[in-house]
Amino acid sequence: MVDSALFLVARSLPVRHGFTLRSGGVSEGKRASLDLGPAGDAGPDVRENRARLASAAGLPPARLVLAEQVHGTRVVHGRPGELPEADALWTDSTDSWIGIRTADCVPLLLSSVDGSRVAAVHSGWRGTLGRIAEMAVATLGQEAGAAPATLRAAIGPCIGACCYEVSEDLAERFAHAFGENVVRRDRRPRPHLDLRLAVRRTLAEAGLAEAHIEDVPGCNACEPERFFSHRRDQGGTGRHLAFIAPGALS
Ligand SMILES: [Zn+2]
Repeated sequence: MVDSALFLVARSLPVRHGFTLRSGGVSEGKRASLDLGPAGDAGPDVRENRARLASAAGLPPARLVLAEQVHGTRVVHGRPGELPEADALWTDSTDSWIGIRTADCVPLLLSSVDGSRVAAVHSGWRGTLGRIAEMAVATLGQEAGAAPATLRAAIGPCIGACCYEVSEDLAERFAHAFGENVVRRDRRPRPHLDLRLAVRRTLAEAGLAEAHIEDVPGCNACEPERFFSHRRDQGGTGRHLAFIAPGALS
């Protein structure tokens, strides 16, 4: 797959997928323009945005499965017509696709090497500390009958260590859980957190090969032209979608 006007792709995932950008939609104001949230009860603008994304990605608009995200660590089998409370979905159903919404949190996509089973994960600071990425790896490995070392992962745009200022208490918890490198103390006055690196660490500890973890770069807060950022915009902003569909690319 190649980047589209509406989304970025990872070079190493063997299936249809993407991390959406903020342009190319019809929403206005702080949500301009490709707002893809909420999960349920989307208004006409978001429905049109989803239709545009489906068309650009070559996926059926009515078969997109989303979740009611709650900053937890549950991994659920996504089925069309259902809206589970979960922060990670997986599927092996080739007539559907799954997605999770973010605006600063880390979006993570996973695939078995043959593309038959895929997962989409929302990992904010709570989910990252709870190691939701590890839960998703375990579920996907089990369902695919595959060793974690064979899985492919892509970590999408999120708030970067450049912009993610946190409390000393949270910085300590992250340093304890993932090592000092995930905390940056060169930016004042408060520590900054590298959530992307914490998720990468979790994946490696869960058994993924480092070479199979791809970064799709971008900081939501630094780049207002390309990304929504809950923190930068102080709420009321749009949502990105990280989406993935099982089935090898033709
Ligand atoms: Zn930044």
